[in-house]
Amino acid sequence: MLEKKVPFSIDLIKDIAKSYPTPFYIYDEGAIIKNLRALQKAFAWADFKEYFAIKATPNPFLMKLMKEVEVGADCSSLPELLLAEKVGIVGEDIMFTSNDTPASEYRKASKLGAIINFDDISHLTFYEEHVGKLPELVCFRYNPGQAKEGNLIIGHPEEAKYGFTKEQLFDGYRYCKERGVKRFGIHTMVASNELDYTYFIETAEILFALVQEISQALDLTFEFVNLGGGIGIPYRPEDEAVDLIKTGAGIRAKYEEIILSAGLPPVKIYMECGRMVTGPYGYLITKTQHIKRTYKTYLGVDATMADLMRPALYGAYHHITVLGREEQSAKETYDVTGSLCENNDKFAIDRELPAVTIGDYLVIHDAGAHGHAMGFNYNGKLRSAELLLRPDGSIKQIRRAENMADLFATLDFAELENF
Ligand SMILES: *Cc1c(COP(=O)(O)O)cnc(C)c1O
Repeated sequence: MLEKKVPFSIDLIKDIAKSYPTPFYIYDEGAIIKNLRALQKAFAWADFKEYFAIKATPNPFLMKLMKEVEVGADCSSLPELLLAEKVGIVGEDIMFTSNDTPASEYRKASKLGAIINFDDISHLTFYEEHVGKLPELVCFRYNPGQAKEGNLIIGHPEEAKYGFTKEQLFDGYRYCKERGVKRFGIHTMVASNELDYTYFIETAEILFALVQEISQALDLTFEFVNLGGGIGIPYRPEDEAVDLIKTGAGIRAKYEEIILSAGLPPVKIYMECGRMVTGPYGYLITKTQHIKRTYKTYLGVDATMADLMRPALYGAYHHITVLGREEQSAKETYDVTGSLCENNDKFAIDRELPAVTIGDYLVIHDAGAHGHAMGFNYNGKLRSAELLLRPDGSIKQIRRAENMADLFATLDFAELENF
């Protein structure tokens, strides 16, 4: 069987667990940065910038490391804007791609000088009414509707709540131009966890063609094309990662064909990837507490779906390694469960693993994106710590685990006395 590797030894994990009890998340700093550089290299032919979709892993320490390699922040809420500000990511290093946006969030994005990516034509007048003059740079999110097939996770674009229709794009840019806006961008995002690289080339082609059509029709100049995120990761050992070089080269060919040969001015290429940036390089470490044999064999661990809800939410596959047993054959079949009072609190169903003993450490792979971020407190579960494995092999805690005081912080027990 294909096995996924881990960047740490069992001895290191046992050592870490003495200071930071399981379950905890651990991220591989070196691998995250190396991967970001590979993405940038694939687009070295262009004026390229990645805006990390911080909802995937909203940790300011990771964001700061990314800032050092010129990665910005894609934000979609006020707390995400505040995180970017704390890290010193401000101005046009922030892409504000939100939807159903409250006025207060537009106001904050405006104060920070973020690039505002409008989700709907009605938000232009909403913005003028609640925030003020339109920003000097505007971007619109395009929803291609039936012009493009969605992928499995995101569904059909015409069913998606996001973005402008094609006709609305023309009306929107015209409206902005009439009000003195001089700088323009365009965005779309219609896939999530897509492993077929040709999908991204097609998306770029659609946007480049729109740039051509709109700039000619309305006599305006586009500054950038934002291809969104959605690059998938190989969750299963047999999956293959997206070939970034081929993706970049394919997009370059379309760029030359549609933008350059039409004599249009150069446009910058932006992306707002989340999953592929941190997903493969974050691991949830949990310890086996019980082995229960009834109609099936249940391997009870100390993490729950409150730590990582993707398997329960979407039936997502997350590979599991039993640390120290990598060389043993997978001869047992387990349901790997947490302790929530929910029968779908399972990290894996009928998973073949080496024979596990109580106290064994399990590594749940590809948990770096939409993992800790989606955590919750059901059944009073406390959210775990996040640790960083530094390139020199040292460990840094980048978020402490929650404690009972955090959990009860919104309750006033003193008032209970007089109630
Ligand atoms: C979620 C999201 C992303 C990131 O998507 P990934 O699949 O994690 O790359 C980018 N842009 C927007 C607007 C998003 O909602």
